[in-house]
Amino acid sequence: MLCYHAVDSAWHSNLSISEELFVSHMAALEKRGYVGLTFVEAERLRVAGSLPERSVVVTFDDGYATSIMRCRSLLDEVGFPATVFVVTSFVESGEPMCWPGVEKWTERTPLEMKPLDWPALLGLIEGGWEVGSHTVSHPLLTELDDESLDEQLVTSRRRIVEELGACETIAYPYGVADERVAIAAARAGYVAGCTLKPAHRVDEPHRRPRVGLFSHDRGFRQWAKLSPAVGRVRRTRLAETLEPFYVRRRKAPATPTA
Ligand SMILES: [Zn+2]
Repeated sequence: MLCYHAVDSAWHSNLSISEELFVSHMAALEKRGYVGLTFVEAERLRVAGSLPERSVVVTFDDGYATSIMRCRSLLDEVGFPATVFVVTSFVESGEPMCWPGVEKWTERTPLEMKPLDWPALLGLIEGGWEVGSHTVSHPLLTELDDESLDEQLVTSRRRIVEELGACETIAYPYGVADERVAIAAARAGYVAGCTLKPAHRVDEPHRRPRVGLFSHDRGFRQWAKLSPAVGRVRRTRLAETLEPFYVRRRKAPATPTA
């Protein structure tokens, strides 16, 4: 499972990678025979024991309107669908997205921070994509009390179901979910949820790990991030033990920009 945010060569932000780099990632996967699936399709096949060995789930967090519409045509060329996770309060308001960690981009580049609206999301679903929840307002869920946690999970899902007909998966803001959050997501009716962490030892329906791809993921880094062998290393106890040191070294503690 891969996680992107924005794809825009002209937007020099840590949220964005160039079209050229995105196309090279997709071409590398297509060449190696990967099958593209949405998150919920992959989860259903996994439960049924029939997930193709080479499957890729392309996901986009936050739902940046101009980026996603650009990615749609790029993905159509390789025949991969995608899953986009939206923050429903911004889908409703249409305001440039803003939460702790991205404020400077809201201020400097408000157009790029505009969210997808309901008609655009419906168009993506008609094109074979999946729309999941990224909560109502993008808080760090592990810090919320039970009532606020349920509100974020339940209300965002309800609004997406009302507007688009279904909402079966969630990506947790900042890629973070502990056991309490995962249980609350299951209770709220999600089939599956996904995280974004360096170590992938926790791998269960409501905490499926993803690999995040950013603008520096070229050459060897690109190969390593898309490599099944490196993926196996991420699942070891050693990777889990080293994760706090790795995260600290990247200076990305409680509020990364994901
Ligand atoms: Zn996010």
